[in-house]
Amino acid sequence: MKNRISDLFQIEFPIIQAGMIWCSGWKLASAVSNAGGLGIIGSGSMYPDTLRDEILKCKTATSKPFAVNVPLLYPDIDKHMAIIVEEGVKIVFTSAGNPKTWTKHLHDHGIKVVHVVSSSKFAKKVEDAGCDAVVCEGFEAGGHNGREETTTLVLIPQVRAVTNLPLIAAGGISTGRGMLAAMVLGAEGVQIGTRFVASVESSGHQNFKDIIVNAQEGDTMLSMKKVVPVRLVKNDFQKRIQEAEDKGASKEELEQILGRARAKKGMHEGDMAEGELEIGQIASFVKEVKPAGEIVKEIGEEFEVAKKEVANL
Ligand code: NDP
Repeated sequence: MKNRISDLFQIEFPIIQAGMIWCSGWKLASAVSNAGGLGIIGSGSMYPDTLRDEILKCKTATSKPFAVNVPLLYPDIDKHMAIIVEEGVKIVFTSAGNPKTWTKHLHDHGIKVVHVVSSSKFAKKVEDAGCDAVVCEGFEAGGHNGREETTTLVLIPQVRAVTNLPLIAAGGISTGRGMLAAMVLGAEGVQIGTRFVASVESSGHQNFKDIIVNAQEGDTMLSMKKVVPVRLVKNDFQKRIQEAEDKGASKEELEQILGRARAKKGMHEGDMAEGELEIGQIASFVKEVKPAGEIVKEIGEEFEVAKKEVANL
């Protein structure tokens, strides 16, 4: 499919895999890129040396374009950005911060920059910062999330109304039908996280993949608004956080319960009771762990079938 997103990234389908901490290393990113989508290395959980190694491996595993996601609140961000430039990465997705901070620097090195937002107000800032495209991510999404709880359905047309930037929709999308729906609302591509966590190539722990394929509706919840809003599986840790929030716990008290490296404990080490498990609402619709290339192909095929069905309405 040819449109502004596939042209921008030089890819076959405007299907973009999200940069998810502990889950999206070179194996997943290269598998998605090799299948014609855009694979992304999620650098948020990687020390700088790990990121360099993952980029080098990804370059060996695919000759197709791939990107790196950098959460702007990452502690060693200068080192990550230096490695991205040194290793010749061509596309960077930034999130959780001000898009102005790094866009010019990356552009000066010939790197395309896409920023993730959760509101139309922030989308306008992305345009003002000179980014090449914007991702609007709705409340359904896993992990870091918007404070205002705007759903993808509500967000896409409003972002479309304020900016002419190439627009990628995220949050609650896992199928070709979901992709078509997002495009009808004004998106030109989709970013998909949860469905790719449940892929063979995802580096998430097998227990975490099992949680996704067994998830039921209502099994996730947006938590920790006072710290950083994040959608989590309702496990023992999340329930403790919820009880504290219900009692009016302060930011400091929540941070104390959270502690350090809880995401690693869950998604990487496989502790499903006490880890921080970041998945989206759509997990309840993901029933099987499959190779990432098959997922890309299935989404592309289903999109075409759905498009024909809609034409007959
Ligand atoms: P914590 O502060 O609880 O823990 C830090 C974790 O990150 C540890 O597991 C640590 O590994 C690892 N890490 C990687 N690089 C560094 C570094 N340079 N300095 C310190 N620790 C590092 O943070 P979180 O686990 O909650 O989040 C980690 C990062 O991921 C943050 O930058 C955050 O912004 C990002 N993030 C991104 C999300 C997204 O949606 N893209 C969602 C959630 C978080 P080790 O234990 O081996 O020391």
